[in-house]
Amino acid sequence: MDIKIYPDPILKQECKEVSNIDSSFVRNIDNMIKTMKSADGIGLAAPQVGISERFFVCVDFSNDSKEDSLVLINPVIVKAEGRIESKEGCLSIPGFYDYVFRYEYIQINALDLDGNEIIYNPEGIQSVVFQHEYDHLDGILFPERMSKIKKDILMKKIDKEFR
Ligand SMILES: [Zn+2]
Repeated sequence: MDIKIYPDPILKQECKEVSNIDSSFVRNIDNMIKTMKSADGIGLAAPQVGISERFFVCVDFSNDSKEDSLVLINPVIVKAEGRIESKEGCLSIPGFYDYVFRYEYIQINALDLDGNEIIYNPEGIQSVVFQHEYDHLDGILFPERMSKIKKDILMKKIDKEFR
């Protein structure tokens, strides 16, 4: 799969809910995980591969090997507290990294590939990755989570690079 690069308009769109987890959906998930791994990413959201639907894949950080991936379908953040700073980049804005503000703890409910609801209470990097990928489903890129002044400076550089 090709990764959509800023300023591709699909990255700014709000995605629609997944209505059907069928075999072609599962195939897309497999391909997304492969695409994420070959790009050395730790997360990849559907709009980043041209699918405007609410799901994402990411590394399972609860597993020491980091080989396993998680799939979150129609995720909803139901609780969020605390504040941390995290240095982030994005496969859709290659080459740019900066500090952004995130919640420290969240609870996020999502469906898995069997259509079962799973409740996650991630901490640390898993929480940050969930929030970064979740934002993609609302058309939000990581610079939006910076202070306005820092965001404006970074966006100027990004616009210069990709426009
Ligand atoms: Zn991203």
